[in-house]
Amino acid sequence: MSDVSVIRCASYDEENLSSSLDEALKLIGGIERFVKPSQKILLKVNCLMAAEIDSATTTHPLFVKAVAKKVLSAGAIPMIGDNPGNAGADPIKVLEQNGYGKIARELGIELVNFQQSGTVILPARSNKMIKTINISKAVLDADVIINLPKLKTHMMVLYTGAVKNMFGAVPGFNKSRLHFTAPNPDDFAGILVDIYSQTKPSLNIMDAVMAMEGNGPSGGKPRKTDLIIASADGVALDSVASSIIGYDPLEIPTTKLAMDLGLGEGNINKINILGVTLKDAKVKDFIRVRNAYELSKKVPRVVLKLLKFLMDLVSVRPSIDKNKCTACQTCVKNCPAGCMTVEKEKTYKIDRKKCIMCFCCHELCPYKAIELKKSLLAKAFIR
Ligand code: SF4
Ligand code: SF4
Repeated sequence: MSDVSVIRCASYDEENLSSSLDEALKLIGGIERFVKPSQKILLKVNCLMAAEIDSATTTHPLFVKAVAKKVLSAGAIPMIGDNPGNAGADPIKVLEQNGYGKIARELGIELVNFQQSGTVILPARSNKMIKTINISKAVLDADVIINLPKLKTHMMVLYTGAVKNMFGAVPGFNKSRLHFTAPNPDDFAGILVDIYSQTKPSLNIMDAVMAMEGNGPSGGKPRKTDLIIASADGVALDSVASSIIGYDPLEIPTTKLAMDLGLGEGNINKINILGVTLKDAKVKDFIRVRNAYELSKKVPRVVLKLLKFLMDLVSVRPSIDKNKCTACQTCVKNCPAGCMTVEKEKTYKIDRKKCIMCFCCHELCPYKAIELKKSLLAKAFIR
C-alpha cells in the first residue's frame, strides 16, 4: 500500500514551511530515506513560464528553498531545474524570473540548464503515438529526483501534479512536437506517463499551499488550499491531490493509465493517507476545469462514437483578445500546429481547421490574451 502524507501549511512563512515539511516527510520515512550524503539531488520544479509568484502558476520559490534546506541538512547536493513551456526561452532566465536564482544564491546551490545538457533518447512503450522520447541529460544525470509539482487544474488533462510535472524533463521544441503528435488528451496522457516512467522521481512533494483553480495551468485563479502533500509514489499523490480538489482520481487520464501500467497506486481506497484525513483536506467548491474532454468522460464511449459529429459542436476554442495582445509571438512560436498569425500590424488569426485544441497558446501567453471560447452547445453542457 502506498503512503501519502497530507499536512496543513497555511503560508509560505519559512519557519512554518520548514516544520510542515518535516512533518510531511517524517510520516513517509524522513528525508534520509530518499537522500544520502554527497548525492546530486535534482529539485524538479514547475517553472512553466515567467509568472508572478502570487499567481500560483509555478512552485513557490520559498517552498523550493525549504526542500533544498532539508536536502542540504542530509548532506546531499541540491540543484534546481526545469524546461519552461516556451521553447524559445532560456531556461535559466525563466528560473531566475521565478525567484529560484535568488534562493540558489542564498543557499550556494546551482540552477541546472536542461537545454544545454543535451538529450538522451529513450523508449516510450505505453503510448500509441511515438516510440521514443527525448529526455534532458541533466535530469537523468541526477542521483535522485525530487519532484516538486504545484497543485493546479489543466485545460487539457484536467489536473496537473506529480506525473504531469515530469513533462518538463523534455527539452525545447520537443514538447511542441509531442503536443502535435498527440492532440487527444488520452493519447497525450500516454506520452506523459512514458516520460514519468523514464524519469521516475524517488520523492514527490506537492506545493498545495496555494493552488490554481479554474482554467489552469496558467490562466486560472490562485486558491488557498493550505496543504503539503508528499509521497514516494507520484501516482498515489496525484490520486489524493485530485480527490482533494473534487475529482474522481481515475477521471484523471494520467493517473488511470499510470496505475494500469503498474507505475503506482491510483485507487484512492488502496492508499494509506497519513496526517490530515481526506475528508478534512477536501476543498469544497474548488473550481474544476470545464472542457469538452471532461464532458466526454461522462458519456459512454459507444454513445460518443455515435455522436462524434455532435462532439465537434461541443468545442472550446482559443481566441485572441486583441486588446490584451502585445504581439510578443510566444504563442505563434509554440503553437505545435503552426496555425497562429499574430502581427504588430494587428493581424490576428487562428486557423481553426488546423488547430488541435492543445491550449498551449492559452498556457503560455504571458498577458492572458488567449481566451477560451465555448461553442453554443458547449455553453449548454459545460458550466
Ligand atoms: S496572444 Fe499572448 S502570446 Fe500570443 S502574441 Fe499575443 S500576447 Fe503574445
Ligand atoms: S492555436 Fe493554440 S490551441 Fe490551437 S493548436 Fe495552436 S497552440 Fe494549440
